[in-house]
Amino acid sequence: MVASYTQLLARRYKDKLDSDAQEFIHYAVDGASRMQALINDLLSYSRVGTKGGRLEPTSSEAALERALANLRLAVQESDAAVTHDALPTVVADPVQLTQLFQNLVGNAIKFRGAGAPRVHVSAERRSDEWVFSVRDEGIGIDPQYRERIFVLFQRLHGRGEYPGTGIGLAICKKIVERHGGRIWVESAPGQGSTFHFTVPTRGHASES
Ligand code: ADP
Repeated sequence: MVASYTQLLARRYKDKLDSDAQEFIHYAVDGASRMQALINDLLSYSRVGTKGGRLEPTSSEAALERALANLRLAVQESDAAVTHDALPTVVADPVQLTQLFQNLVGNAIKFRGAGAPRVHVSAERRSDEWVFSVRDEGIGIDPQYRERIFVLFQRLHGRGEYPGTGIGLAICKKIVERHGGRIWVESAPGQGSTFHFTVPTRGHASES
């Protein structure tokens, strides 16, 4: 409502408003859109614990395909090449596994380097868990920030550089932990990033 009425004001009174007023309206609309994005992301964050579905045998390959379908526009616009190995069936919440891949691949595309993004998803079985990897060739992350990026609202860049609310990786962490796994990153500036997360081979649910 705030955004649409401010926009309406701008349209209807275009000829009556001076350039200062137009600029103020632009900031108001921008602020309202950001507030909306923030509220949506915070809702998704809070719903990981409260609205999670059952953990059931889930094809992680199908979850990745759904994530890529949701990211189609970003993939097309950036000319990204997203490849993957054969991926296992795991005990997981299919909606949350999709969201997890979507956030990680979405970030791999967003924080790309100079060239078209190349992203590879793989999984390796290690004793009683699967270790998934989402590897990119993007801008990379200074190792000193490798814990901080998973904290709510923590971002390493200004909004002008890369859009975002700083909630995506906090959602990833919450999803992975609900499944009894861990998430971490290996990266260096300019060297690309690889996000790893684990899913226990036997189902596990912690409803925190
Ligand atoms: P957002 O994408 O909204 O900024 P996230 O929680 O998804 O929030 O990510 C937090 C921060 O971690 C990002 O702002 C960025 O600095 C860094 N980051 C996340 N993914 C990547 C990546 N694939 N490559 C480089 N930096 C990344």
